[in-house]
Amino acid sequence: MSTVIPAIVAPSATDPLFTGTVERRDVGAKDVRIDIRWAGICHSDIHTVQGDWGPQPYPLTVGHEIVGTVAEVGSEVTNFAVGDRVGVGCLVNSCGECASCAAGAEQYCENGATGTYAAKDVDGTITQGGYATSVVVTEGFVLRVPEAIPFEKAAPLLCAGITTYSPLRHWNAGPGKKVAVIGLGGLGHMAVKIAHAMGAEVTVLSRSEAKRDDALKLGADHYFATEDRETFRTLRNEFDLIINSVSAAIDLDAHLKLLALDGTLVNVGAPSEPMGVRAGTLIGRRRSFAGSNIGGIAETQEMLDFCAEHGIAPEVEITSADQVNEAWARVLASDVRYRFVIDIETLRG
Ligand SMILES: [Zn+2]
Ligand SMILES: [Zn+2]
Repeated sequence: MSTVIPAIVAPSATDPLFTGTVERRDVGAKDVRIDIRWAGICHSDIHTVQGDWGPQPYPLTVGHEIVGTVAEVGSEVTNFAVGDRVGVGCLVNSCGECASCAAGAEQYCENGATGTYAAKDVDGTITQGGYATSVVVTEGFVLRVPEAIPFEKAAPLLCAGITTYSPLRHWNAGPGKKVAVIGLGGLGHMAVKIAHAMGAEVTVLSRSEAKRDDALKLGADHYFATEDRETFRTLRNEFDLIINSVSAAIDLDAHLKLLALDGTLVNVGAPSEPMGVRAGTLIGRRRSFAGSNIGGIAETQEMLDFCAEHGIAPEVEITSADQVNEAWARVLASDVRYRFVIDIETLRG
């Protein structure tokens, strides 16, 4: 049995999204049904639908920045009750048994974590994301959204927030550390806020001067435009950690040279093209080039609690179900400050 609910549907890689329906399974013993209130628009949603990361199972409903209210719980659910403010991010399941899962790093599950959309679910169906009025998720992958976080701003924390929080924590951003953030978009603006709240000295590296005022308001201490080649001389050997949030290829070697001894440049953006590195650039100051993928469930909860404690929330622009195609076009044009959130009430008939 399943329930048919309103959803925003991608019929193919190229056709516009339309308002249609999607099926949700009935609530099982360990499941939580969430009435979705707000859903963030992540660049990954667009990459996925447009086939940039491979062929997809259409029709498809995307969205992995989801917040809402618990509407129903299964008989064995212990951590959630009807009415709770909750969220769901990029994962809805994992094997629970491998070394990564045992370490709380479900995103690196060795048997393949289950993505919130376009993934094969345990029952063989394809998962469908959060551009919809409800979702059914096993309780182990449901997060609590603290009251201190404004609800309409909370959704982007579930992807953009954790994607930047996790590497900042892993590579010890904090007092005395110089952190640079490449790119000031959905991910980058969260990296700035979180690194600042952790106590690091934060520099934004953006292509032009256009976002200087915004960057400083978000918590950056310094701002440099990378179209000015002087920037690369001025900042040589400067940073302990660089978070690259750009999802297109950059001059990686030039940016690696901005790392101090033992510094690390972490890619959280996922460009489809390869990027070149000279070994000498790494060898010269024992530098590292790394990647990081979202975060585990416990770490995602830690991030939500951290944001509540430090008064951090994404900068959002609210959009409606009938404006999602326009919103996607603006995301592709980098014309959003800094994350679109869909008001899911506009999808309810
Ligand atoms: Zn995302
Ligand atoms: Zn696993």
